[in-house]
Parts: sequence; C-alpha cells; structure tokens
Amino acid sequence: MSQLAQLSTVNHYTAYKPKPFTRQERDNTTILFGGLTWKHERLIQAALQNMGYMAEPLPNIEREDLDAGKEMIDVGACCPTIFTTGSLVNFLKKEVSAHGKEETTRKYVYLTAGACGPCRFGQYHESYAMALDGLGLRDFRMFLLAQDELDQGASGGGGLEINLPLSLGIIWGILCGDQLTDLEYLVRPYEVKAGQTEQALRESTEYMYEVFRKRPLQKGKLGTLAWHLGGSYFTRALREIRKKWDAIEVDRLRVKARVKITGEFWLQTHEGEGNYNIKRWLEQEDAEVIAPPVAVWLHYLMHPTIRKLEHRHSTSKHPQVEQLVLKALEKLYRVTYNRFRKAVGNLPNQLPDQEELLRLAEPFYHFELRGGEGHMLIGKALYAYHHKKAHMVCELSPYSCMPNTMSIGSMANVLGKYPDLLYAPIEVKGDAEVHALSRCQMILTEAKKRAQAEFETALEQTGLTIERIREFEARHPEVRRATYRVPHMGCSGHAANYVFHLSRQRGLAKAASKKAPRKEAQAWTTSHAD
Ligand code: SF4
Repeated sequence: MSQLAQLSTVNHYTAYKPKPFTRQERDNTTILFGGLTWKHERLIQAALQNMGYMAEPLPNIEREDLDAGKEMIDVGACCPTIFTTGSLVNFLKKEVSAHGKEETTRKYVYLTAGACGPCRFGQYHESYAMALDGLGLRDFRMFLLAQDELDQGASGGGGLEINLPLSLGIIWGILCGDQLTDLEYLVRPYEVKAGQTEQALRESTEYMYEVFRKRPLQKGKLGTLAWHLGGSYFTRALREIRKKWDAIEVDRLRVKARVKITGEFWLQTHEGEGNYNIKRWLEQEDAEVIAPPVAVWLHYLMHPTIRKLEHRHSTSKHPQVEQLVLKALEKLYRVTYNRFRKAVGNLPNQLPDQEELLRLAEPFYHFELRGGEGHMLIGKALYAYHHKKAHMVCELSPYSCMPNTMSIGSMANVLGKYPDLLYAPIEVKGDAEVHALSRCQMILTEAKKRAQAEFETALEQTGLTIERIREFEARHPEVRRATYRVPHMGCSGHAANYVFHLSRQRGLAKAASKKAPRKEAQAWTTSHAD
C-alpha cells in the first residue's frame, strides 16, 4: 500500500456528539441519571416526571463498578470517574444482554452534569464516551446538564429541554433531599427503637416524591421563579413530614463523637461502596456523622462569578448591576434553604457562610485555585473547628484527584497552626477499605475521648447527674422526641449540648444551680452559647 493510501485510511479522532433525541421519542425513552444519594435521586426523578419525562436513577454504586470502569477508561482517571463510568457500563451491559444494542440505544438516554474547570469533572463525559465506544454503543445518547445555566433550551432533536421549570424542580429536589439527609444523620445514632429512622426516611422520601411529581407548573419564567421562591407548596409538605419524625424517641445521653465529612464532591455525598460505606461504618463505630449537603456545592458555584465581578475581571457592561442581582439571588437561595429548615423544626444544619469559608481558608489556600471543592475543604475544616461543630473532620479524598491532593498538602500547614484539630484525610481508591478505615479509626479514638471528656465536663459544670436528667425526661417526654431541637450550646457533641440546654430548663435549673457555682455556669454560657 502506498504511503498516501495508508494516510487516507487513518481514522481521525472526532469528539462524541449525541444523535438527536426527538420530541416524539420522549414518551418511550427513559432518562438515566445518578451521582447523588438515593433520596436526592428519587426527588430528581419526580421533578423529571413532573415535566413529562420518563426517568430512572442508575442503581447504587457497587464494588464491581470499579472493575468495569477500570477496564473501560484511561488508567489515570480519578476514582469517582471510574466508579460512575463503571456504573453506567454495568447497567448498559445488562440491558444489552437482555434486549440487544439497538433496543438499549433506543430506550435510554443518559443525563449527566457538565462543567469546565481544571479537574477531571470537566471531562467526565469524555470518559463515558470512551466507555460507550468500548461497548460498541457509540450511538447511545448522552446529554450534559450545565451547572451554571438554568435555561439551556432544547437539546439536539428537542426531546430534552433544560428550561427553568425543570432546573428549579431539580434544584428544589436537591434542597429537600438535603433536609431529609440531615434529619437521617441527626436522628439515627440516637434512636431508641432501631429501624424507626429508616422507616420515617423512606416514608418521607416517598411523600416528597409525590409532592414533586405533582408540582403545579406556572406560566412564564418570572411566574415560575416567584412561585418557587415565595410559595408555600414545599414548606407545607416538609411540615407534614416533620410529623413522621415526631414519633421517633431518641436518647440524647448517648455520647458520640461528631464527625464532619468533607472531601471531593461525589465521594463525600455518596452513600455506598464507592466510599467504603464510611458514613454507616462511622455510625457503627459510635459516631454521629455530619453529612455534607449538596446545597453547599450549589452555593459555592455562585461565588466565582460574584468574585469576578467584585474584582472587575468580567467583560460585563454593567458589573455593578450584575453583582447586585447575583447577590440578591444568593440571598434568596439561603432564605429558601432556611425556610425548608424551618419547616422541619430548624433541625438540619445551616449552610455555612461562603464569605467566612473563604476568609478562613485564605491564609492557606487561594480561592482562585479552583477545581474540585477548591478552598472550601480548608474553610470547612476550620469552620467546624472554630464553631465547635464537630470533634473531628474526615476528608474523603479520591485516589488520583488533583484538587484534593493540593488541599491535603495545605492542611499540613493548617495543622501546624491548629495542632488540636482532629483531621483524618482518607484516600479512597475503592479497593483498600481496611487501610482507609483503620486510618480513620485512629483519629476517631481520640475524638471519642474528647466527646466523653466534654460530656463529663458538662455534667460537672452544670451539677446535673444522669439520674436527674432521666427523671426530668420522664416528666417531660417531649425532650426525647427526635424533633425536639437542642440548640448549639458551644459544645461539639450532642450529649454535652443537651446537658447544658437542660440545665437551663425549669425543674432542672434549680438542681443545677444548687450544685454548680452559679458564676462559673454563667461564665460558660455567655462565652459558649451561639
Ligand atoms: S475533584 Fe478530583 S475526584 Fe473530583 S472530578 Fe475533579 S479530579 Fe476527579
């Protein structure tokens, strides 16, 4: 073969471009998606169905997905990319063996988050495309949901229209999913009857699923926005589910180490084999987990644009106006989150202030170093430390993740300045569970000691005893309800906050003041109460 002929047979690389998904195909095509917890995904499924789509979350991640992903994409990929690709691959393989390639390609499309930026998140779809190639499913359709555009319009073919009602449905689903997740992790470690939290959680999620599926659609963009921001449709529903949690009895005198989970977005959000089921494992090890809300990530996404405008690094003709509009939207976002929290008794945690996270992280990690969670990892660890929100921080860091590697490096500097901050960076690569969990256990042992010491100090300072508290609880059973709110009294642990809180209640305050020197108790409460 001549050299010219050889050259003419070269197959040049062409980027993946999905085949059209037409409006007519919508009623017979299922949108696949995944990447969050089963609660968030159930509500997103409802939001999609509400807009007339058939939708189905991918099955929860399993260990086999790691192997399937490794076989299909490049070896240097970070572990979330491998897991999520493997999950799609295993699902499609099953479908292909049951119904054949053509039917699978016709029956499903895949919707995934798209982004740009310095880390692999911007190229996830390339890995999926590579896997589709490997499976011989190049015609399988995959679409990107941009994280920074609420109204992207119709995809090629018009079958999928990412418009404001759909985007707001998905975001509101995420915000409500966060409330359910916070309730779950706040209550389960203290439930008296095992399994009650799980039951309330399942029932609440199904209730909210129906609420989202039946969401009334509004006319026009402004009408849609105003209805979501100002209406009471979702807060009423959340008030309803609060009743389900009311029935759960909890024992708040169980002393637990509180562990704040931070880390790479997918890994910290995930509940399953993708992160060694670390949240459940921590609970079994007598800890209370503070699960990271997805809402913090969405909140963070607003900030780079706000900063660009602040520093006038924008091509906008009216940067000040844009900045004002964005700040107003950010405020409305926080107000909405707090309205949802209020509807479930203000039990879920507040969103941290993004400005404060930036300020805390600034001496160690510059906010312009974006990728992954950027400076937030440092900011969140210091936020939990300074505000006494947790006894320890467990940072889940994916194998081969560039931003997390940088943040762990910077944490060495943070720990030099705050040596008593308990920090467990856990590298997750999917197949080194014993190593990762034993590292976590070492720090957890110290965290448990601190929780116990803090509890004993609380009893000593208030002059209360466990017997006195039990007597009080017998007379006031409402304090043992899961929905009874114990304010943060300046301690990291739930049990210690509970003791200080009860010491101010009528009926116990007297007993407390008889034993504890009044001056000392007052000094403590003024310096620690929030
Ligand atoms: S943050 Fe790390 S793990 Fe996550 S996509 Fe980027 S490189 Fe991968």
